[in-house]
Amino acid sequence: MELFPADITDSKSISETLKKSYPDEVYNLAAQSFVGVSFDQPIYTGNITGFGVVRILEEIKKFNDKIKFYQASSSEMYGSEPSKIKNENTPFHPSSPYAIAKLYGFWTVNLYREAYNMYVSNGILFNHESGLRRLEFVTRKISNGVAKISLGLSKELKLGNLAAKRDWGYAPEYVKGMWSMLQQKKPDDYVLATNETHSVKDFVEEACRIAGISQSKIKSTKSNFRPLDVTYLRGDYTKAKKKFGWEPKIKFKKLVKKMVEEDIEKWQRWQNGEYFPWDAFTSGEDSKILAKIRK
Ligand code: GDP
Repeated sequence: MELFPADITDSKSISETLKKSYPDEVYNLAAQSFVGVSFDQPIYTGNITGFGVVRILEEIKKFNDKIKFYQASSSEMYGSEPSKIKNENTPFHPSSPYAIAKLYGFWTVNLYREAYNMYVSNGILFNHESGLRRLEFVTRKISNGVAKISLGLSKELKLGNLAAKRDWGYAPEYVKGMWSMLQQKKPDDYVLATNETHSVKDFVEEACRIAGISQSKIKSTKSNFRPLDVTYLRGDYTKAKKKFGWEPKIKFKKLVKKMVEEDIEKWQRWQNGEYFPWDAFTSGEDSKILAKIRK
């Protein structure tokens, strides 16, 4: 597969990418996607995560309005909305600059569908994780952190709000769901989730059990708390199941196991002298440990 990178802050770059790639389908996964950072960079986040969507849709409308478009909308849009299980009809109450930017994108997609009759769909995906998750996100921060502790490479791990609950699924399954959305006769909006919710503390407990380390090494510090946090998310994927048979197979325990074992294996491979592309180099603390191992 050929890659055609585009800068979504620049309409000309998007237009050139469309001309070069001549796509049937466009999937917009581009975003400043870290909720924590969006509090420090609200305008930057709005420009990429919100306005990026309308820039792409405008260029698609001009170039070929038959292109199908997928927008990565987010469960963060529900924010502090109080209902226990969210579906496509649940109202939104965003609790971060990131969620507000995602809502701008969500409603823009609805507008282009209604006003211009374009084939544009929103996937409202709840948190989806894997070993490719960036190290700032809590699941990967935990799997990577406990892996290092279990191998004696690090002493402790500092997190923030351990009480927050999320509906965590396995990313590759969600990508199949995204593709299925664009194979339907009509464009629409769909929730993908597991219909389960677990706290950050649950994730820590399970990860420590798998890595064989004591939970006392995992601490919660105020500096890792957000100015406002989404405390609870759980999604109902009934519509996606009915329409195109989508169902998550890898649930919480399997997901934690996969992520922790993968991170332990990566650190071990490095300890054994193997070189391979790895995101640990992008984290200051990890790159110091890596340099020490190879001294
Ligand atoms: P989000 O759902 O997109 O914000 O995904 P994150 O993985 O960044 O955060 C999930 C939840 O974990 C949020 O409620 C965070 O407040 C909570 N959390 C607790 N400690 C940490 C931490 O050290 N890093 C991150 N990223 N989140 C944390």
